[in-house]
Amino acid sequence: MKKRILLLAGGQSGEHEVSLMSARSVLAALPVDQFDVTPVVISKEGRWLPPTQTQHALESGVADSGGDLVLHRAASAEGYDAVFPILHGPMGEDGTVQGLLTLAGIPFVGSGVLGSAVSMDKVMTKQVLASAGIAQVAWRLAVRRDWHDRPDSVRQSAQELGFPLFVKPANLGSSVGISKVHGSDELDDALTLAFSLDRRVILEAMTAHKPREVEVGILGNDAPIASPVGELRFEADFYDYETKYTEGRATMHIPAPLPAEVAAQVRELALRAFRALDCAGLARVDFFYVEETGEVLLNEVNTMPGFTTTSMYPKLFEAAGLSYSDLVARLVELALERR
Ligand code: ADP
Ligand code: MG
Ligand code: MG
Repeated sequence: MKKRILLLAGGQSGEHEVSLMSARSVLAALPVDQFDVTPVVISKEGRWLPPTQTQHALESGVADSGGDLVLHRAASAEGYDAVFPILHGPMGEDGTVQGLLTLAGIPFVGSGVLGSAVSMDKVMTKQVLASAGIAQVAWRLAVRRDWHDRPDSVRQSAQELGFPLFVKPANLGSSVGISKVHGSDELDDALTLAFSLDRRVILEAMTAHKPREVEVGILGNDAPIASPVGELRFEADFYDYETKYTEGRATMHIPAPLPAEVAAQVRELALRAFRALDCAGLARVDFFYVEETGEVLLNEVNTMPGFTTTSMYPKLFEAAGLSYSDLVARLVELALERR
């Protein structure tokens, strides 16, 4: 019998449009003899759109409004074998939707509440990975209340890390709200921007030199496998939103031209991080490789990475011999296995 899949896409985060692009790829790739797929687009206001509006949103690439309250529509998810929440960022990749689906008793692709929530928050991720002995850049947490009441203590944290440093909202993706701060004169603007997007902000020391950025895909539940290592190259100062989403600004190199022992280390660390964070199904684990010093530092773990046919995660597994549609079918199997 065909498996009935509910594909959730869009959502309330800054990555709404990216999610819709991924959803279109998945819809086109799921083998129709095995799967009966129903897409539901979630508007930017967080409402679940009925079929005609969903179709329209998929075609236009955005859904600003419309739809029904989430709890009303979630009940209708009950008849499905599995949900594929192809949602990025807060209110989708952060354990909230995963909690709803867990309560509703429906299997879903990807990490559960714990793995999703911890991996979404860059500070929590760093704390868990540090306790697993995984090397990372130096960092400090600041909360919005501190920035309002004791801004000098936040500025002090930055001084301790030294410049240049990165200021990031703790719970976001796609480089939204991230600034590279070159000196103390740029610090306040960066903090104001990050705090306008999140209560929690992370300040991070920059790697000793401009790092090479390498990424690994992980696939599986309790016996996960690692893909080959991929590398992103670009001209920009760092991998900002524009560089990520403007055609031709970045190039993907698979496999990354790395010494064999560095590639092996990166893959081993990615698997260790996946386990430490209690991830499931899939994740893309991103690293900084500082060629000058040989350091490998874990940057972040994305539990629902970009998933168009040209995105890094599917490309990494394609290089390992798994086609896009086989990959999607495998993810559904992994979701059902976790029941
Ligand atoms: P996002 O979740 O939005 O992708 P990242 O933490 O991956 O956020 O940061 C986005 C980009 O900023 C990275 O890919 C890298 O180019 C740059 N960057 C972030 N933190 C650092 C750092 N500590 N040192 C050097 N570059 C960094
Ligand atoms: Mg991210
Ligand atoms: Mg990133």
